[in-house]
Amino acid sequence: MKKYDLIVAGGGLSGVAAAVAAAREGLHVLIVEKNSNLGGAASNCLINPFMKYSLQKKDARGEVFYEQLNCGLFKEIVDRLRRAGALNESNMFNVAFNIEYMKMILEDLCEENGVDLLYQTTVTGADVRDGVVRSVRVFNKNGFSDLFAEYFLDCTGDGDLSVMAGAPFRLGRDEDHLCQPMTLCFWVSNVDMEQFAKDRPLINGKYKEWQEQGKIKNPRENVLIFRHVAPGILHFNTTRVINRNPVDAFDLTMAQREARKQVFEMFGFLQQSFESFKDAVLLMSAPEIGVRESRMIDGEYTFCLDDILNYRKFEDSVACGCYEVDIHNPSGTGTHLIYLKKDNYYTIPLRCLLPRGMKNLMVAGRCISSTHEAQSAYRILPIVCNIGEGAGCAVAIAHKENILPREVGADKLHAMLDRYGARY
Ligand SMILES: Cc1cc2nc3c(=O)[nH]c(=O)nc-3n(C[C@H](O)[C@H](O)[C@H](O)COP(=O)(O)OP(=O)(O)OC[C@H]3O[C@@H](n4cnc5c(N)ncnc54)[C@H](O)[C@@H]3O)c2cc1C
Repeated sequence: MKKYDLIVAGGGLSGVAAAVAAAREGLHVLIVEKNSNLGGAASNCLINPFMKYSLQKKDARGEVFYEQLNCGLFKEIVDRLRRAGALNESNMFNVAFNIEYMKMILEDLCEENGVDLLYQTTVTGADVRDGVVRSVRVFNKNGFSDLFAEYFLDCTGDGDLSVMAGAPFRLGRDEDHLCQPMTLCFWVSNVDMEQFAKDRPLINGKYKEWQEQGKIKNPRENVLIFRHVAPGILHFNTTRVINRNPVDAFDLTMAQREARKQVFEMFGFLQQSFESFKDAVLLMSAPEIGVRESRMIDGEYTFCLDDILNYRKFEDSVACGCYEVDIHNPSGTGTHLIYLKKDNYYTIPLRCLLPRGMKNLMVAGRCISSTHEAQSAYRILPIVCNIGEGAGCAVAIAHKENILPREVGADKLHAMLDRYGARY
């Protein structure tokens, strides 16, 4: 029977960073991923750009400069994207990247560090005894099989493995368990960009008019558009599906269908209303609808809004972030934003990565132990990447010392993160 040191469920940015962080310390690591590429929501849901990962500071002469906060493996990925000419850094608070290069870079990182990959394979269950996960059950073209490891890491975004292993969790906001809305992102090509610069300030007003006339059903309050790395293409993150449960397959299917109608509604609106879209082409929508929030696994500590607003620096921090509280209304229109100081940051403690009652299982990425409000801030790509790296380092230390992840000392964890240039 083959036994890995670490099995990571889910190959999003958190999963890849965790796997690479552990493998570069000599662990034999496998990523089990239900799709056929790495990158998670960035690849499967077309999520782009990287939200804020740098602090904005002023030097002695009062000149503004940017200091990269999310470093370590995230910086390595950004540096590789930059070297490949696959980044658009014209706005340091949302840096667009080419997803095809990202997929390749993530596979390169895994190959260089000896991480094994298993695609088109879904984790469907876990064999757990006394809080120890012995194996995970997976399903793929070979049918069902069991995969064994000493440690397991849940990076599925939805906390699938933790829930299958029996860990407690919360879903969405406390009062009604509704999660932030789901969004199907899409790209529109052949946009007249010169004309678009003139049209852009008028789009939200016209959109409101159409909404009031009942011609737009999308409950989102405005139209959210980002630039794309390619010329003449725009990236839309603007559909909004509310009141659906992202971890119910029937609801998820309805959400995907509802969002697709919104894609056509939005494209029709733009084509009929604005010169810049006259010859535009609806290029593609994401293969999967994007889930901002679903389950958050109950851990030894629950990260909360207060920690963010007080820029809390935890003794056992594994990662840090400077992205705002950004809650898209789970039940209607509006987005609740709380802006943070541009030169300060919050940290995320290791205890949020330790599911209660589990011994050799950790969780990383958007489904760590947190409240609905706090999740809206740390869920972005740069931060989940660093959370994953922290988790991978913790497992590497646990493995070397033959201890449980919860027994890993913060000093050792920080020494390892320092060695790899990560901030926490
Ligand atoms: C609509 C939307 C817009 C967003 N906008 C931005 C933005 O502009 N900038 C930004 O930085 N962030 C943004 N985010 C946030 C960010 O994309 C996610 O929070 C982040 O990708 C989460 O990373 P993760 O590694 O935790 O999970 P994911 O990226 O979701 O990766 C999880 C992986 O696990 C796999 N998986 C799931 N279940 C199983 C299973 N049972 N077995 C095997 N594999 C499984 C999935 O296929 C996936 O590859 C947005 C998110 C959404 C949904």
